[in-house]
Amino acid sequence: MKVGFIGLGIMGKPMVKNLLKAGHKVLAYDMFRANVDDVVSAGASGAASIAEVAKECKLIITMLPNGPEVKEVVLGAGGVLESAASGTVVFDMSSIAPGVAQEVCAECAKKGVKMLDAPVSGGEPKAIDGTLSVMVGGDEATFNEVKDVIGSMAASVVHCGDIGAGSTTKLANQIIVALNIAAVSEAFMLSTKAGVSPEKVFDAIKGGLAGSTVMNAKAPMIMDGNFKPGFKIDLHIKDLANALETGHKVGSPLPFTAAVMEILQHLRAHGLGQNDHSAIAKYYEKLTDSEIRK
Ligand code: NAD
Repeated sequence: MKVGFIGLGIMGKPMVKNLLKAGHKVLAYDMFRANVDDVVSAGASGAASIAEVAKECKLIITMLPNGPEVKEVVLGAGGVLESAASGTVVFDMSSIAPGVAQEVCAECAKKGVKMLDAPVSGGEPKAIDGTLSVMVGGDEATFNEVKDVIGSMAASVVHCGDIGAGSTTKLANQIIVALNIAAVSEAFMLSTKAGVSPEKVFDAIKGGLAGSTVMNAKAPMIMDGNFKPGFKIDLHIKDLANALETGHKVGSPLPFTAAVMEILQHLRAHGLGQNDHSAIAKYYEKLTDSEIRK
C-alpha cells in the first residue's frame, strides 16, 4: 500500500524513514520543500501538493503541530477532503484537542472518508528507533485495517475508544509528564536549599515509589543544567491549553495543570519557550536564586 504522509518535522521525518524501512512506499508532503527533500533522499516520493497525496493514497498519515493545522490540511481549500476518494483513511498522529478530532472526523464522514486520531508518546528518539507509543481513537475495524502499517513506527499501538479517545489519552499523558517534572524540580530545590545533594536524593529514591520514567529522563538534565530540547516548552503549553480547554468542556477541573501552565507561561515570557520542558526547574531556580546541580 502506498502511504501518504503530511507533516515532515522533528517527528514526521523519522517516522517516514521507518515506514520505508518496513517496505512501504511513501508519498510525502510538507509546506517546506527541504523537509520533503530529506525524506526523498531516504527513498520516499515527494508530492508537490496535499491534493496529490489525497488523489494517490488510500491511507494518509498527518503529523502536524496542532488542531488548526490539521483542520487546514484536511478540511481547508486544496486540502485532503477536496481530492480524497470515499474509503480513504486519514490517520492523524498530531497531538490535538479531542473536540477538534471529532469535528474533523464528522466532516470527513460526510464524504465517506474515515478518520482516526492517534497521537504518540516517546519523542524524537523513539520516532527514530521506531518504538513510539501510539494511542488511537476511532472506528475499531478501520484501526485493525491499518494497525500493521502503524506498527512499523511503534513499539505499542493501543486502541483507546471512539474518535477523540486517542487525543484524550495524550492529554492525560501530557498532564502527568508536566506535573511530574514540576514535582521533581520542587523537591530537588528543597533538598538543595536544605543542603542535601539532589544527586543523592535521585540515587536514593529512583527505585522507590517516587521513581518514574520522567524522573529518570529529566533529573540528569536538570542537574546538568542542560535544557536542550527534547520536547519544547512551547509545545507543552499547546498541549496543556488543549487539556484545560477540554477539562472545562467536560466538567473536569484541572487545578494542578493550571498551576504548571502558569509556570510554563512565566518561562515563555522570559524567552525560554524553545527550551526543553525540564527547564521548569529554572522557575524554581529563579524563585530561590539558587541552582539545582550535582
Ligand atoms: P514540527 O513543528 O517539527 O513539525 C510539524 C511539521 O508540519 C513541520 O515540518 C511543518 O512544516 C509542517 N506543517 C505545518 N503546517 C503545515 C501545512 N499546513 N501543510 C503542510 N505541512 C505543514 O513538530 P513535531 O515536533 O514533529 O510534532 C508534530 C506533532 O507531534 C505535534 O502535535 C507534537 O505535539 C507531537 N509530538 C511531538 C513530540 C516531540 O518530541 N517533538 C513528541 C510527541 C508528540
